[in-house]
Amino acid sequence: MSGTGTSGDDAAPMLRQCRDEGQDGRVSVWQDAGGATGGGDALVRPLRERGQRQAFCGLAGIVWLHRKLQDSFFLVVGSRTCAHLLQSAAGVMIFAEPRFATAILQDRDLAGLADCNDELDRVVTGLLARRPDIGTLFLVASCPSEVIKLDLETAAARLAEHQQGRVRILAYSGSGLDTSFTQGEDTCLTALVPEMPVLPAGARSLLVVGSLADVVEDQFSRLFAALDIEPVHFLPPRRAAELPPVGVGTLVLAAQPFVGATVAALAERGATPIVAPYPLGIEGTRGWIDAAAAAWQVPAARVAEVTAAPMARADRGLARYRERLAGQRISFLPDSQLEIPLARFLARECGMELVEVGVPYLDRRMLGAELPLLPAGVRLTEGQDLERQLDRVRTDRPDLTVCGLGLANPLEAEGLSTKWSIELVFTPIQGFDQVADLAELFARPLDRRQRLAF
Ligand code: SF4
Repeated sequence: MSGTGTSGDDAAPMLRQCRDEGQDGRVSVWQDAGGATGGGDALVRPLRERGQRQAFCGLAGIVWLHRKLQDSFFLVVGSRTCAHLLQSAAGVMIFAEPRFATAILQDRDLAGLADCNDELDRVVTGLLARRPDIGTLFLVASCPSEVIKLDLETAAARLAEHQQGRVRILAYSGSGLDTSFTQGEDTCLTALVPEMPVLPAGARSLLVVGSLADVVEDQFSRLFAALDIEPVHFLPPRRAAELPPVGVGTLVLAAQPFVGATVAALAERGATPIVAPYPLGIEGTRGWIDAAAAAWQVPAARVAEVTAAPMARADRGLARYRERLAGQRISFLPDSQLEIPLARFLARECGMELVEVGVPYLDRRMLGAELPLLPAGVRLTEGQDLERQLDRVRTDRPDLTVCGLGLANPLEAEGLSTKWSIELVFTPIQGFDQVADLAELFARPLDRRQRLAF
């Protein structure tokens, strides 16, 4: 094993292609030939597919998490492929002293000639000696079989003890065996929950869960302050050393649909999750704020007053993109878990026609307020059988396909316009002030295709 920063290797990021549940990849069945959706989530019965899928692994989450948690460091325990993925996705050179690296398992480790735990201890000790600025170190598990055999949680506890409280060391999985690349954030945040201090008895707070750009966080903080909803905390915080408190007085408001395990862990610590749509688009943002305000017992009239100006501004900004997007047909391939709230926004506020909405997994606890807002009869799929899905895209020929990076270029080569779904995780798109930017992300590839046609 060798400790390295992600180097300037020219290898392409690895995309996973794996088969679920040992099946032969051709086993998808229509659960409901009508694909009935809309009008209440009890009616939502997706097409479930279990076959070959293609997505980034959870290591991708490090790209935005290392920027968010500014006193943290992410040490992936993995292979050269993991290092290549991080380097390609995050694009930081080793000499830039990034806050992530890969402890690469070497052939010697794989042959069992070295005790991986000793090697890991050596790499971590060297890293912490070189980088005294690290406050929280995450050991991130990957999917090579030798890594799976390593008990990184025990290793984290052992190493933390060696550091005598100077550095917090936690472990989580960013493995490609998970379903979606956004699960890397969920497993990371779940690892932080036991570290959160206890909210004093009798106190209450609002906890917003899921990474948001700082500018978006600031906008929401101002809106909540105007509604007298205070204190408001965010998970992840900007510094891992400043974890927010949690307890029976905590109301949890998810800002991202992929943090289900984190929300469940917070509920186990006494917090109460709020069911709400996601703050994408005017309707989603208003619904998200309404849900928090109702739980905080803020009068509806006060919410209407505070949100009126930003909603009017957002509506003006959206107008020109609505014109461009209305009537355009769009398909989502399962990749990020953001598909359903985005589809709801594009259909209801931009007039787009949903051809197919694919999700990696359908988490009804997290999508309870979103599913009833989807248009009735939309074709909803869960999981993936890649070849079948591509066949449907080729037959449907939507105006725009939202998909992973690995599928975008081949589909473009077939004359289809695409949008990278990972871009929607990296870009500030939540809240009233980002509504026009969100719509523009979908209008841009359509404009590009139109320009190429002339
Ligand atoms: S964690 Fe697995 S899927 Fe991800 S880069 Fe490493 S080897 Fe590939």
